[in-house]
Amino acid sequence: MPQAIFTYRPNAQKTYGLFDEILTPEVLRDICHRITGQNQYQVVRDTSTYNKGRLLLLEWQGTKNYISLSETEIAGRNSSLQSVPTAINIFYADPSANKRLYYYFMPHVGNPFTDYHLFAYKLLMTAGVRFLNIGDYYHGNLQPYSNVDEIIQDRNDNQQSNASNNSSYVSRTIDKIQIYAKVYGASKYESTLLALAVAHIADNPIDLYNICEQDLSQLPQSSLNTLAHIPNLTIHNTSLTFDRRQLFDTPERNELRSSAYTYNLFQRIGYKKCALCGCDIPQIIQGAHIWGVSEISHNVNLSDEEKFVHATNGHNGLWLCQNHHKLFDADILLFSPEGHLLVRDNVPHSSAEYLQTITTSHELPRNILSDDFRWYLSQHNALKTDIHCHRLFA
Ligand SMILES: [Zn+2]
Repeated sequence: MPQAIFTYRPNAQKTYGLFDEILTPEVLRDICHRITGQNQYQVVRDTSTYNKGRLLLLEWQGTKNYISLSETEIAGRNSSLQSVPTAINIFYADPSANKRLYYYFMPHVGNPFTDYHLFAYKLLMTAGVRFLNIGDYYHGNLQPYSNVDEIIQDRNDNQQSNASNNSSYVSRTIDKIQIYAKVYGASKYESTLLALAVAHIADNPIDLYNICEQDLSQLPQSSLNTLAHIPNLTIHNTSLTFDRRQLFDTPERNELRSSAYTYNLFQRIGYKKCALCGCDIPQIIQGAHIWGVSEISHNVNLSDEEKFVHATNGHNGLWLCQNHHKLFDADILLFSPEGHLLVRDNVPHSSAEYLQTITTSHELPRNILSDDFRWYLSQHNALKTDIHCHRLFA
């Protein structure tokens, strides 16, 4: 009878012998039986270094089974999931052909099934991680995502209940999928998880924009190594350390600047939805500048630093569908200083009627109409003083 061999590092970074304590014979037998279908195992303790990623390895019949262990005390969402990306990185760094990654719920106190936890577990499932014993603790039906739109929708719902906490956003255009991710702070690893999940179900190439607000910040090397395994994924670092004078010059720099702008819009007003008609099909929703980039870049009174700040400021814009964006840029639709929707006087009657049918909002909602937004509106409107207009909906 071949033997199953468990290998683990008993010491946690801060707690000596932690894994000797929590990996009881009952837990090991349970894991062994769930993976191998039998109860015989040997244990190898590796004391060479501490346990990173709360990992346990079970070798059985030529396959290396990595098991990421949950916390035993579930606190905040970030702390209770923080070891998972490390486990993923270690798993991907193993060149073995026959390997699997599992997640195992230890006996625990606290709630590991908040909306955010469930979102993370679905991402893990989508990325190919197998859950060994979730059915013992959670009785809902948790399935991997089958397409990217489901992730975007869930993220959207999740955000509405927890707006200020997000650091990563998924979106799509006609032919690409975008992941916008913060690379610093507590949830910097979230982008790795999102990218792995999206990559498993993506129907288009993926652009991962790492938003680097602090100079020199980028994803940890271990995460970059993992992401290098994903075909069809391109990493863009929107580092702000490069010369900002060049930010308006080349298509590549324009793309990085506009990705920083898009991220800031996500942070300020949430997921993509046209402010004028409610359309939320991400492929046709765009970030619309109020004070336009070309006016900003040609303004001789602004320093390069100021130009960059205005061109990427999340208050300098809103989400609009392609139609409403074009209508605004063409000065057919305008906004009053109070946020009322205006239409140019000389628009033919039939066109005005059409505009009324495709427009559901008479005025901008409060969450868009910040003081900074009004200031950008005043800059825009100062350039349009020769245009006569009236309320679209009288
Ligand atoms: Zn619209």
